[in-house]
Amino acid sequence: MSQVHISTHPLVQHKLALLRDRRTDPKMFRELLREIAVLIAYEATDDLATEEVTVMTPMGQASGRRLRERVGLVPILRAGLGMVEGFWNMMPNIEVWHIGLFRDEQTLEPVEYYNRLPVSPTVDVCLVLDPMLATGGSAVAAVDILKNWGAKRIKFAGVIAAPEGVQHLTTAHLDVPLYLAAVDERLNDVGYIVPGLGDAGDRLFGTG
Ligand code: URA
Repeated sequence: MSQVHISTHPLVQHKLALLRDRRTDPKMFRELLREIAVLIAYEATDDLATEEVTVMTPMGQASGRRLRERVGLVPILRAGLGMVEGFWNMMPNIEVWHIGLFRDEQTLEPVEYYNRLPVSPTVDVCLVLDPMLATGGSAVAAVDILKNWGAKRIKFAGVIAAPEGVQHLTTAHLDVPLYLAAVDERLNDVGYIVPGLGDAGDRLFGTG
């Protein structure tokens, strides 16, 4: 489980309880998800390589560091979109590519319906975003797509996971670290995380 990072930060846990609350409306849900994404972004980027730079302050020369690695975001549609803004707040110039996967309600298997990856990788690190790691099927499929495309370093950033999803993703892709706010009790028989927060896409977009 060393690749699974579960945030214990008080702000993450505070905001997560509000996010789960059924009384939280879509506007507040979007804001909370963005804020949690900022905090998860902080944790998911703690090993990015930097290089030395020199800048002039109003008082003289200072040495500092800047990011050396190029990062790309890959939100899994639709709920992954809710995390993009938070990561952008921290890294405004990173590229965002969309992968659309829906879950077949009968088989619970992911089906790809959209893919906007460029012809070949232009970044050093890909961050796959999906707030809910349920069966893990979509995350595993997204990482498969990225690896087949040539991505070398991939991380997964989410909010709530089921133990089944963590097991599935870490078994299929041992090299992909996970950054989460919580691992809940279980999946129910239609693949929802319990207690979870319901359907993240519906709560984000006010549908359902
Ligand atoms: N997707 C969601 O939005 N919620 C779940 O509980 C599981 C998958």
